[in-house]
Parts: sequence; structure tokens; C-alpha cells
Amino acid sequence: MLRTVCLLSFITLLTSAHAAVPSVKVLIAKSLHNVVVEGMDLHKIIHTQHRSQQYNGRKSISFNCSSQRNKKQTVQNGSLLIASLSSPTGLISWGKHKYQGELQLLSDTKTERCDLVNSIPLEAYITTLLSKEMNGTWPVEALKAQAVAARTYAYERLSKSNSGKLYDLESSEKDQVSGTFFDATEKTLLASRETEGEILIGPSGKISPAFFHSKCGGKTLRPDQVWGGVEEGYRSVNCTFCQKTGMKDWNAKLKNTKLVNMVDQVLKKYYSDAIIDQNIRIMPDSLHNSELRLYAGDRLHIVKKSYLRNLAGREVLPSNNFIMSSKNNEIHVEGSGYGHGVGLCQLGALELAKRGYNYRQILSFYFPRHKIKTAYYQ
Ligand SMILES: [Zn+2]
Repeated sequence: MLRTVCLLSFITLLTSAHAAVPSVKVLIAKSLHNVVVEGMDLHKIIHTQHRSQQYNGRKSISFNCSSQRNKKQTVQNGSLLIASLSSPTGLISWGKHKYQGELQLLSDTKTERCDLVNSIPLEAYITTLLSKEMNGTWPVEALKAQAVAARTYAYERLSKSNSGKLYDLESSEKDQVSGTFFDATEKTLLASRETEGEILIGPSGKISPAFFHSKCGGKTLRPDQVWGGVEEGYRSVNCTFCQKTGMKDWNAKLKNTKLVNMVDQVLKKYYSDAIIDQNIRIMPDSLHNSELRLYAGDRLHIVKKSYLRNLAGREVLPSNNFIMSSKNNEIHVEGSGYGHGVGLCQLGALELAKRGYNYRQILSFYFPRHKIKTAYYQ
């Protein structure tokens, strides 16, 4: 029932452009032994004891995470909300980092350690994130395209926030890397302000999970080519705009046995199959073929290259755009681009902005079947 109510209120939020700016809960640190936060006129709520306290002037508050454990409390997914801290008159600090909004302390009931979450208005989140995911000095139209994509990604995750987790997103490459207050620049402020509340929606009108990456290397990929799940509206587009910037084309060498082992693991994990014969022969490959075809003995196996990249790591295979071939009992890999390759190509967006494209044109290039919709504004 709660889930239905939350979903309905979220749909109302989406259909009403007058809705207030939502807040997003971002996991900023994990497995901490101690947490010290500082700020002016701090307001502290200790949820486990149902009490709150107001401090006047500058105050530093220390939490010992092992003493926060309380088995009697009900927990969600092993996490318990211990405390919330906010400063009505300024920023709140954790170490060198300064945050807007509220800091929330979660206790992991198994490890006696704490996770730290920043609950922050979505627009403030986007403003600081742009400097981390792109560069705060880039042309503002590229930053605006990134702002819409990142806002869409966060907004889509907010729609799933009732899944039991006490946060919506992680500040990491797993989701998107958020910044702190001082990462905001004049340009990132402008980029988020001029696109306030704008998100991408798919052809059916649903919020689309908008993905982005550093450099596609010539052609973007669809989500199903990389992760297997189909997301509506995505197309693979030819992008020549990122060629001259960022990471140069890369190459790697693998031992035959290493590839056999990797393919075997991928087959077992994703295809309910295995390699029986160790004698492998790679079929002619091309850079933008998202699957590797190889014979093991007389059996043909087809595996997603992205699954091999997950196993090998980003250091070995920086992107999903690569060609594999056998030479002298070794596997030679030649690749292009950096990142998963799905959705907005950030270096391509940079080049398009330099050539005078506005953010709507940049987004319609990388998301040709999506539309921009204003979900809310202040
Ligand atoms: Zn590109």
C-alpha cells in the first residue's frame, strides 16, 4: 500500500510541473569507524532515541559508530537511520568536505560501522555533480546536456526509492559522482538553473534512465548491448566528435588461457553454459560488434564483450568497443573509447558544444527518440 501511495505521489510529481524540487539521498561514504561533523547552529536528531537538540554557534559533533549499534531497533536491509544533522544558517562539514542539505548517519547493524548520506535538493546536487562528471569550465551547453542527463538518472532512481534502501544513489562510478559545495562553478550553476526540472522521457512518456559515459570511441551502444536489459527509446548512434580528445585508442594482450577462463566464467554466470574444449578460435571481429564470437572446439559461443570487461576490469579493457584477435598464442585487443558507451558521450558533447550545438541538439543527437520534459520548477 505504502509503495502504491509513494508511486502515485511520484507520478503526481512528474505530471505537475509546479511540484517542489525533490531531494535526493546520496551515499557519500561507507564503512566508517567514526564520524565527525561540524557546522553553525547545528540541529541534531537522534532517531534511535527520538530526541533532537539545537546548538548555537559553531559546533563539532563526534559519533563512534560501534556504540551506535542497537539490535532492538527495526532495520531496513541491515541499515538503521541513527542521526540527522543540518545547519539552518550554513553548510555542514564532514572532514574537508562541505555539504548543503542534511547529513544522515546510517548504522550497519552487522559491521558496527557507519555509512554517511547527504540528503540534498536535486538542483543543488546537479550543480555540484557537473564539475565531477564533466568539468566546470566546459562550454555551458555541454554542461546543460549533462545536467539534464544526470537529473534524469537521479529522478528515475527516486521513483524506485521505496525499495527499502535508505539512500537513492551512490556517489561513485556505479551511479554518478557527486561533488561538494565548492565544486560548483558559475557555469555549473547556470547549467542547472537554465535546465531546472528538465528530464528526458522515452517515446511512451515514461522517465528514461539516461546513461552517459566519457568517450564512446566512434559509436554509442544501447543498454541491451551492454547490460542485457532493454530500455525504451535507445539507439546506437555514430559519433565522430570524440575522436580527437580524451583517451587515445588503446590495446591490450591476454594469454589464451586467460581468455578461456574469462569466457568460461561469463558462460557460467550469464548463459548457463561452459567451455568444454580449451582450443579456442576467435571469429572475425569488428570494433562495434558488441558480442564476441568464438569456437571452443567445434562449439560456437557468443558472449557480450561488456561481460568480459566486467571480469577483466577497466584497466585492462577501458571500453566495450574493442576487437579481439589471436596472434602467436596470444589474444590481441585493440579498443577505442572510455566507459560503457551507452547514451551521452561526454567528450562528443564537448565537441558539439564547441561547434555551436545547443544542449537540446546535443541531447537529441545522443537520445534521438527521447523528449525533454519539465518535471518541476521553483
Ligand atoms: Zn563519442
